[in-house]
Amino acid sequence: MTPDDDASQAAFRAEARAWLGDHAHLAPVISGIPTEAEVDQWRAWSRTMAEGGYAGITWPIEAGGRSLPYSYLEIWLSEAARAGVPEHFGVIGVDMAGPTIIAWGNDEQQRRLLPPLLTADEIWCQGFSEPGSGSDLAAARTCAVLDGDEWVITGQKVWSSFAQYARWCILLARTDPTAPKHKGLSFFLVDMSLPGVDVRPLPQLTGDPEFNEIYFDNVRIPRSSMLGEPGDGWKVALTTLDYERSTHGVALSSQLIAELGRVGGLMTRPGADGNVPADDPILAERYARIWVRAQGLRVTNLRSLSELDQTGKPSSAGTISKLEWSLLNQALAALAQDAVGLDGLVPGADGLDGGHWAYTVLRTRGNSIEAGTSEVLRNIIAERVLRLPRAR
Ligand SMILES: Cc1cc2nc3c(=O)[nH]c(=O)nc-3n(C[C@H](O)[C@H](O)[C@H](O)COP(=O)(O)OP(=O)(O)OC[C@H]3O[C@@H](n4cnc5c(N)ncnc54)[C@H](O)[C@@H]3O)c2cc1C
Repeated sequence: MTPDDDASQAAFRAEARAWLGDHAHLAPVISGIPTEAEVDQWRAWSRTMAEGGYAGITWPIEAGGRSLPYSYLEIWLSEAARAGVPEHFGVIGVDMAGPTIIAWGNDEQQRRLLPPLLTADEIWCQGFSEPGSGSDLAAARTCAVLDGDEWVITGQKVWSSFAQYARWCILLARTDPTAPKHKGLSFFLVDMSLPGVDVRPLPQLTGDPEFNEIYFDNVRIPRSSMLGEPGDGWKVALTTLDYERSTHGVALSSQLIAELGRVGGLMTRPGADGNVPADDPILAERYARIWVRAQGLRVTNLRSLSELDQTGKPSSAGTISKLEWSLLNQALAALAQDAVGLDGLVPGADGLDGGHWAYTVLRTRGNSIEAGTSEVLRNIIAERVLRLPRAR
């Protein structure tokens, strides 16, 4: 895979750009947590993308995809980001739950769950983190006990993004408390509409409740709701995490690169004081440094997608992309805020960009925590990518 399109990739890019040209007017503008009306519009936009063949494009045809190579995903995501349309509403489903179900699910699970996931009729959330186990995910204490033909789930998850909209949850739970911690876990697909599931939104730094606590109080799910076999939970969860950091990371990187273009516009526009930010050598150098690193990020993404095409499995190299994306996204938001100056700090005020950058600076703080903290990712890069000696 090279940074430039070959003939067939160029044809696909033209096709995607033309489709976006015809349909982008249907896309809602989503900033922050969506209102009820925006949820309906976002769902409808996601369905439009699925019907147009632009959701799950790398998935097998029998799973509702187009079996396209991952380089085409990068093309689609960068064209969508360039057009400024929102990502799929069911992002956790399309980028993480779906690929995990394709890798580990049986025919029945794939047939029932994948079509409504692609059309955003059913939204998914990720129930991995707990109050006592975030980085040390394998210490999860939520438990599942087999009772006849049902598993009974009890425990608490936290920081579950989009759980307030979710019909399904990918859940990591302990099924064998006597086994070593990584071996006693199993992976479940939980219907969030069942009795005993309680979702409580948590406001974050921005003031928006993007993530949630989920309480499971003796929730009874069918025995068939497990993905893989009892005790496979850690291996299945690693599949989810690898996709989260690689293909989902590519989606985030594409948005960053499109945003870089918009900040470039901001840099050359006179501010409220009449000064042009790009004339300030410090701001100009900060922009140039982010721009150069973003090109490196794109090439790194292409390299890891190429590996994914060859092996069929995301590699730990996706960790590099997630780490670098989070650092660049934070740096870009801080630069944009400095470029718009004090007026841009007041959310909702009449300042330049109406407080967008102030909100973005706050939201990006979480980038170096979500999907693995930067410290933990550096450990993974050291041990699994560079093969350095283990820290512990
Ligand atoms: C915006 C956002 C969305 C999220 N969405 C979801 C979601 O949908 N589903 C979900 O399950 N989770 C989600 N999370 C949770 C996220 O995955 C965890 O917050 C993250 O894994 C860190 O866990 P923790 O918060 O328990 O921190 P801890 O693990 O307690 O870490 C605290 C500090 O210790 C450091 N640390 C811990 N272990 C090590 C180590 N071995 N070496 C070096 N330093 C270490 C960490 O880097 C961190 O600085 C989300 C988080 C955020 C911020």
